[in-house]
Amino acid sequence: MRLYLAVFALLAAVHCEELFNGDQVLRIHAESESHIHALKELEEDVESGLDFWTHGFSTERPVDIRVPNSSLHAVKDFLKKNNIPFTVMINNVQELLDKEKAEMVSNAKMERSTKSFNFAAYHDLETLYSFMDTLVASHPNLITKVRIGNSYENRPMYALKFSTGGVSRPAIWVDAGIHSREWVTQASAVWIANKIASDYGVDPSVTSLLGQMDIYLMIVTNPDGYVFTHTNNRMWRKTRSVNSGSSCRGTDPNRNWDAGFGGPGASKDPCSESYHGPFANSEVEVKNVVDLIRGHSNFKSFISMHSYSQLLMYPYGYTCTDIPEKSELHSVGTAAIKELTSLYNTRYQVGSICKIIYQASGGSIDWTYNIGIKYSFAFELRDTGYYGFLLPANQIIPTAEETWLGLKYIMEYVRNHPY
Ligand SMILES: [Zn+2]
Repeated sequence: MRLYLAVFALLAAVHCEELFNGDQVLRIHAESESHIHALKELEEDVESGLDFWTHGFSTERPVDIRVPNSSLHAVKDFLKKNNIPFTVMINNVQELLDKEKAEMVSNAKMERSTKSFNFAAYHDLETLYSFMDTLVASHPNLITKVRIGNSYENRPMYALKFSTGGVSRPAIWVDAGIHSREWVTQASAVWIANKIASDYGVDPSVTSLLGQMDIYLMIVTNPDGYVFTHTNNRMWRKTRSVNSGSSCRGTDPNRNWDAGFGGPGASKDPCSESYHGPFANSEVEVKNVVDLIRGHSNFKSFISMHSYSQLLMYPYGYTCTDIPEKSELHSVGTAAIKELTSLYNTRYQVGSICKIIYQASGGSIDWTYNIGIKYSFAFELRDTGYYGFLLPANQIIPTAEETWLGLKYIMEYVRNHPY
């Protein structure tokens, strides 16, 4: 009976998890306006189930699309017919997923036996949340866990607040994982949380920073989506909210902010990966952050971590008009990237969202910038299109280390330039 139940549970678990056997990620290089036009046609064909890993079509930058096995033949035919060059970036998505899962299982076993947290591994939400508790418990005078509200599926949302005292000190916000499948961002944020905690009192720069400012670090900004990437669909990007009148769930939480809401670079189709939602702040995960930022009213910097593409971006996304402080933000970004690159020679590009990738409306840093948080930035972490979202776990620590150097530069700059 027991064996029967175990087999049944296993089958049930296998059954609900989406598989990607034979799916490929194609890297497509548009070379002309007519190519771009053809690609837009492809994008509108929702039936073929294409999953855009990067967005925006231009001749400057390739676009990566996961193509389900069932549509592979037709899509390749379409590209060939239109003379659009492409390469196969990932030959079989499921193979990488199987490898990732096997590593997670063996790591979990190792962590149980050694009772330690391995920063060079991906973890489920429960493990991340329990690590946060451990960190807070070992640094009670520095870190508090701030519950900013609950997610759509009622999971608590936590920001770690690093503070050495004072009332409503100027503060810096850093978040990760608003797009749930961008696993290297949550994993880097955990490493960074631990780094800040262990550097305080040791590294003069971190110590002096926290003598004047607070840091809020949100490791899992989209907890429902994150759980779903572990239990059902590793490729899930959006929230998990129900859309009335549609069988497709979820809103793109980085198209849902009140900045150019509903404009170009967001979709009104609930089945799209970049669906903007019924109205600005409709997603409780976004609303919770908005309420915290507004209620605090002394944030000087807001930094959001995404992957992948190796970019550091500043506003705007919803328009290609330059912000008044463009030259300052560009030079801060350039200097931050210089620090980042100095460690492992990882190359980044710096620019406004609109100019560097594509016009995208309803993004977080456009909203924070518009309410007066001048130093608003978004990182796109590793890589540039070898593994994409499926970055191997052995790259987590190097990614976190280099990202921290860039972040630290921005934080120091913000401290030295009060406004
Ligand atoms: Zn993202």
